[in-house]
Amino acid sequence: MQKYPWGHHRRFNAYSNYFRKLYGSRVQKLSLDAGFTCPNRDGSKGTGGCTYCNNDAFNPSYCVPEKTVARQIEEGIIFHQKRYRRADSYLAYFQAYSNTYAPLAELKKLYEEALAQPGVTGLIIGTRPDCIDEEKLQYLSGLAKKFYIAVEYGIESCYDRTLQRINRGHTFREAEDAVGATASHGINTGAHFIFGLPGETREEMLAEADIISKLPLKTVKFHQLQIIKGTAMEKEYQSNPGDFQLFSWEEYLDFFVRFLERLNPEIVVERFTGEAPPRFLDRSLWGKKRTDEIVSLIEKRLEELDTWQGRLFNK
Ligand code: SF4
Repeated sequence: MQKYPWGHHRRFNAYSNYFRKLYGSRVQKLSLDAGFTCPNRDGSKGTGGCTYCNNDAFNPSYCVPEKTVARQIEEGIIFHQKRYRRADSYLAYFQAYSNTYAPLAELKKLYEEALAQPGVTGLIIGTRPDCIDEEKLQYLSGLAKKFYIAVEYGIESCYDRTLQRINRGHTFREAEDAVGATASHGINTGAHFIFGLPGETREEMLAEADIISKLPLKTVKFHQLQIIKGTAMEKEYQSNPGDFQLFSWEEYLDFFVRFLERLNPEIVVERFTGEAPPRFLDRSLWGKKRTDEIVSLIEKRLEELDTWQGRLFNK
């Protein structure tokens, strides 16, 4: 069976295989809400937040900021064990809001509390590109010598006009700078992107594969735009639906395979799609597809077309 540049026979550089290779065993991420806020909500950058954002849509039930980090980790481990997700070690995933948005002393306390828990071997820190600085990177770079440390940036789009329209409060240049600085400190650097944002054409979204491929990223997550109830975007969508090109499942499958073909094979792909709980969805165009089903349908299509991640990658 053919092996691809990432050393296994799956047709994309898969996150689960990356960790299996790195650790030689199964690792489980534990989502945390450590009580951070976000500069795009608290007034320092903006107050309304990104137009699509409703953070409640993405937090598992065990993760509420009133509980300590240690307690959330303990409950997270039980939560996963009950679902028979066996793991030999855990990564504490600081997920909710902007998890580097506090003075360093406060961050140290929270991160080190997580790293002190039995079984925790690393941190994954979700944040914004404008919430990082040299002092924090130096500290994280020190931790990265002993633990698995990753910083994941919400970038969402490579186009400034889109970033402005969705009220991200930062430019793509700021995202490039944050990614470059983080990677140069020896920290695993991740990014998150959304496909289907208003005003973007499919060709522009596809062209993002070439732009993303040039960034020094270790991991990426993608998801299709989902209109979440109660957000500013829901109102925008209702008053101007023609500006949105929401993907049907078939369209997304075709698009994503073409996107993967252009993506740098060295970048590990963690997610193809997002999955907000149905109560948050304004409308679901995809029926009841689960994430694992989506992954196997995409892998099946790659196989049918005899193609793979990076087949059309231009260095
Ligand atoms: S940066 Fe994140 S938490 Fe803040 S408003 Fe945007 S999506 Fe929400």
